[in-house]
Amino acid sequence: MSTETADVPPFICPYCDTAISLPDDDRRFHACNHCGKQLDLPAQFAFLRGIAAFDEAQDANIALKQSRSRRTSAFIARENAIVDVFTEAYCSVQAALGGDLTNSQRALGVEMMVNMALLFAKRSMISRLEVNYWNLLMVEHTAQEEYDAIREKLAHSSSIFGALKRLRWRQRKRQLRRTFPKLDSSIKQVADNIAFVNPPHARRTDWKLLD
Ligand SMILES: [Zn+2]
Repeated sequence: MSTETADVPPFICPYCDTAISLPDDDRRFHACNHCGKQLDLPAQFAFLRGIAAFDEAQDANIALKQSRSRRTSAFIARENAIVDVFTEAYCSVQAALGGDLTNSQRALGVEMMVNMALLFAKRSMISRLEVNYWNLLMVEHTAQEEYDAIREKLAHSSSIFGALKRLRWRQRKRQLRRTFPKLDSSIKQVADNIAFVNPPHARRTDWKLLD
């Protein structure tokens, strides 16, 4: 891990959004001195490296797409260099997802993995199966968020919301309920087929299908 210097920006706890100081030894877990949540430091650092590399590669990719000289050797070299940075991001985010992250970090990590997996599959660097895996995880994260939001709305809405709106929410909620078991078995099946050496922990472990 990089050594702390005065130039290093403060570490922001992902749970409470507060700048906190970190221990200078190489322990894995550290309790935030503001909110008390346990931070998996290697996972947090890998996530930060992954985001930085992803942003860098995205920006370079946008600039490259705007350039007019296509298929020249300079263009191809720049394109390959960008893919290298995306590869770095892919490995870092995957490593981060192997540890403990917050739910929003997991969701963002999965979204980044889907984007990069699509790009890599086009270059035959990874299998379509792997793209499918990350895509299914993104669908699950999105469906869980939507389900929780609908439950919240139904619990807190009263007469200010029309009966028709509530009916539509209930229908959507039922539709989502039917989706979860199918998603679960698809994810497990694809993961089995991929046979990860270090399976990612990118699904929400705290999520429960509540009424
Ligand atoms: Zn905190």
